[in-house]
Amino acid sequence: MPHSYNPSDIIRPEVLALKAYHVPPATGMVKLDAMENPYALPQALQSEISSIAAAAPINRYPDPNATDLKTALRKALIIPDQMDVMLGNGSDEIIQIIAMATARPGAIVMSVEPAFVMFRMIATFANMQYTGVPLTADFALDLDAMLEAIARHHPAVIFLAYPNNPTGNLFDESTILKIIEATPGIVVIDEAYHAFADASVIGKLADYPNLLLMRTLSKLGLAGLRLGLLIGRPAWLSEFEKLRLPYNVSILTQRVTQTVLRHMDVLLNQAELIKNERVRLHAQLSAIDGLKVFPSDANFILFRVNNAGDLFHKLKQRNILIKNLDRTHALLDNCLRVTVGTPEENTQFITALKTLLLSVK
Ligand SMILES: *Cc1c(COP(=O)(O)O)cnc(C)c1O
Repeated sequence: MPHSYNPSDIIRPEVLALKAYHVPPATGMVKLDAMENPYALPQALQSEISSIAAAAPINRYPDPNATDLKTALRKALIIPDQMDVMLGNGSDEIIQIIAMATARPGAIVMSVEPAFVMFRMIATFANMQYTGVPLTADFALDLDAMLEAIARHHPAVIFLAYPNNPTGNLFDESTILKIIEATPGIVVIDEAYHAFADASVIGKLADYPNLLLMRTLSKLGLAGLRLGLLIGRPAWLSEFEKLRLPYNVSILTQRVTQTVLRHMDVLLNQAELIKNERVRLHAQLSAIDGLKVFPSDANFILFRVNNAGDLFHKLKQRNILIKNLDRTHALLDNCLRVTVGTPEENTQFITALKTLLLSVK
């Protein structure tokens, strides 16, 4: 053989250095690690979905523009008429499209630290530089540090999750707006947790020419369908559309989502249940000695313990899966993140947590 084929000679060094995104196995676990909605759809709606799926012409390619689905989304999410909508296979794909489109040589993606890890990962996928500006100790935006970093790096794109993941808080809106004004590039506000937050920048789109808004149906209850949205001015979205693969939203996702959107009240009621449980879970966690519990406007709660790694593993041994954030960032020392589940799941989690904390003492 004339060649010895070695991936390290062919694959980009940044890719060789990456670790694949790890999703832990969760069969049989109380799954409180991934911000999923814990509730199933009502039986009648499940049956409606069955017939819709059965009748879908899956031998044909789907509508590449998903026109009917977009109409339904515009109505359900009250999207301003002047704004365009682009759909992604989850909002992860939208982040990737934005990165591909802006990856000029030397272009910089900026976010905060700690932030949603896909911002950094996808910047790397697209051969872009990434800069993360640390939040303050209480996870607020550090405006001075942001303005300084913007002036120094001239980021092509800033991603800010609102509420933030993994911290759960909403940033101050006026600070966000100052960042948008100071940025020579675009600012993408990622409202993945909008359903749990009573806040949005959707009303600001008309005022800020470099503002884009991202939403997803994943946290609201359709994580398995993979559907994310980018909302913004046609001037930006028409460019991003060129990079969207034509059939990125399957016919099943299109048809099933349209069906569920006709019963949007079901999802919104489930979000209300989750918000109520968030209040209870937060109170119960706060009542435990030695825990520092952070405020949340999302469907998860971040808290700090004395020995996060140990507690995480012992919970896992008891079939309760949450997220260990210890050692992922200095501000997240000994921090764990729990998704709000059903009342039963949350009680199981709290009971196990209390037992373990007592046995450690
Ligand atoms: C979960 C999450 C997403 C990803 O959503 P998908 O639409 O499922 O890809 C995006 N942004 C943030 C901040 C998230 O937490």
